[in-house]
Amino acid sequence: MAGKYNILVEKTKNSKISETNFDELEFGSVYADHMFVADYKNDEWVNPRVVPFQNLSMSPATSVLHYGQSIFEGMKAYKNEKNEILIFRPEAHAKRLNRSGERLCMPEFPEDLFMEGLSLLLKIDEAWIPPKPGNSLYIRPFMYASDEFIGVRPSKTYKFIIFTGPVAGYYKGNVNVLVETNYVRAAEGGIGFAKSGGNYAASLLPAKLAGEKGYQQLLWTDSKEHKYFEESGTMNIMFQIDGKLITPPTGTSILAGITRDSIVTLARDWGVTVEERKIGIDEVIEALKAGKLEDAFGTGTAAVITHIDVIHYNGTDYALPGGEKRSLSERISAALNEIKLGHSEDKFGWVYKVKV
Ligand SMILES: *Cc1c(COP(=O)(O)O)cnc(C)c1O
Repeated sequence: MAGKYNILVEKTKNSKISETNFDELEFGSVYADHMFVADYKNDEWVNPRVVPFQNLSMSPATSVLHYGQSIFEGMKAYKNEKNEILIFRPEAHAKRLNRSGERLCMPEFPEDLFMEGLSLLLKIDEAWIPPKPGNSLYIRPFMYASDEFIGVRPSKTYKFIIFTGPVAGYYKGNVNVLVETNYVRAAEGGIGFAKSGGNYAASLLPAKLAGEKGYQQLLWTDSKEHKYFEESGTMNIMFQIDGKLITPPTGTSILAGITRDSIVTLARDWGVTVEERKIGIDEVIEALKAGKLEDAFGTGTAAVITHIDVIHYNGTDYALPGGEKRSLSERISAALNEIKLGHSEDKFGWVYKVKV
C-alpha cells in the first residue's frame, strides 16, 4: 500500500491467531497481532510503524501516569461478503480524537496519517476480523503524554497507538438505571466532551454504588441543578416521547457520540422528529406516568443501543413499557447494522472501505 507516509512494518513471528477461540470472545481481553505506533517529538509526529502487539516500557515519572493527559477512541471494523474491510465512520473518530486532544493540550494527530496507519494495520491483521454476524474488530486508538517529568505542564512528547481486538456482539441485555443527583460525571467547562481517561475514572465510584443497589447504569444529570439528563453511563441518552426522539444537546459536559449522530441523522432522514434539547427528570417522569414515554436507550459504539427497562428516581422504580413501543429503536438498530456491513445503501458516506 503506497501512501503519503512511509510507515515501517515489522511483522510478528508468533501469531496468536491459532490459539484464539473466536467463538468465545470476551470484550476487551483479546488483541490482534499488531499495533500502529507513532511518536511526537520536537513538534512533529515521527517514526510511524506497525509492530507486533507488545508491552510498553516507561519511566515511573511518565507524565500521563500522574496528570492524566490521555485520550482515546473506540470504533469497529467488519468484513463484507466480498472479504472487503469496512470501518464505520473512522474519519469522524479521527476528528473527535483531535477535538479531545485540543482540550487536553495535546498535539493534533494528522487525519491522513490516522487513516493510513489504521488501514495498513487492518490490512495486516485482517484475519482477525471475525466473519461471524454480530462480531467485529474493535479498534482502540489512543494518545498519551510520554515526557519523563513530574512537573505540571503539557508534555512535550506523546505516543499515539492503535491496537485492535476481535469482539462478539456486545449484548448484555437491557438495563435498570438510577438517576444520579449527587455525583457528577462532568461539569460545564470541564472535559466531559473529550474522550479522556479522567472522565471514566470520575464515573467509576458512582457506577459501583449504583451497581450495589442493583442498577447496571447511571443516568447522569447536569452539575448545576441536577435536573437535566446528560448521559447514561458511558453512552449518550435518548428518549422517545409521543413518537419524537429527544436527546440532550452536546456541549462541554456531554460527549458527542458518533452513534448518537448516526441515529439522529437516520431518524431525521426517515421523517422522525428529533429534538436536541435539554430534557429533565420531571418531563420524563411525567411522560412515563402519562403513558407517553415509549422508549429510553443509551447509544454508543460498543452496544449501539442499550434499552432501559427501569428508571429509578428518588426512591421509586419506574418501569418502561418495552415491547412494541420499541419499534423505532429496533428499526434504527437493524438499519445501522445493515449499513455497517455494507448490505444497504450508504447514503451518508459512513462506511470506509480499506483500500488494498
Ligand atoms: C464513547 C462515549 C460515548 C459514545 O460515543 P460513540 O462515538 O457513539 O461510541 C458516549 N459517552 C461517553 C462518555 C463516551 O465516552
